Amino acid sequence: MTFRRSEFHSHTILTDGEVVGIEMIRNAVARGLRAITVTDHVSLGNIDWIVEAEIAECELARDWEIAAIPGVEITHVPPDRLDEAVRRARRAGARIVVVHGETLAEPVLAGTNRAAVTNPEVDILAHPGYLTPEEADLARENDVFVELSGRRTHMVANGHVARISERSRATMIVDSDAHSPEELLTQAEAVAVARGAGLGPELVDQAAGRAQATLLKRLGIDP
Ligand SMILES: [Zn+2]
Ligand SMILES: [Zn+2]
Repeated sequence: MTFRRSEFHSHTILTDGEVVGIEMIRNAVARGLRAITVTDHVSLGNIDWIVEAEIAECELARDWEIAAIPGVEITHVPPDRLDEAVRRARRAGARIVVVHGETLAEPVLAGTNRAAVTNPEVDILAHPGYLTPEEADLARENDVFVELSGRRTHMVANGHVARISERSRATMIVDSDAHSPEELLTQAEAVAVARGAGLGPELVDQAAGRAQATLLKRLGIDP
């Protein structure tokens, strides 16, 4: 059986993505993906209506050959209120919680990476360009996956993120962070992102394969 890639980080027109959720999901089907998670940007101001709209879009794909999963990317929430945002997202029905990490590309509040990796309810710390060894240790302890980004603006720090995560044995995962259907990574492209970050074969296999399967199982979905 060939491995079918799953995506855990993507955006739709609900925030800064280019297409409506169902269009993103349809394109993921056309690319042969096993699952796609819609993770639009949420702050403390919009969690409820964003998650509600995502759930409605994902429901529309119920009979398709893909698992469509509603999620969030918690974005620019002050670190001392991050736990509150995670709780509210879960209560609203978000099944995957991504946190928009401290990245070279944007002025994310200092302390965001740390707040994310200390909360075991967070699934993925996205593009954490300024990741420290201590944060990577906490990510491993709390089972928070560390993202290697397929997005050009965040990719520049992938090598750093990979080196620090490898030393701490934190689990890495390759995500597209797609804002349009064309940006959804194929499996070959995901492998290339992992290799480009400097990972050896074993960790490439983890970041572009086993990590996806682990997250699907967490959700009770067959990989
Ligand atoms: Zn982000
Ligand atoms: Zn994103």
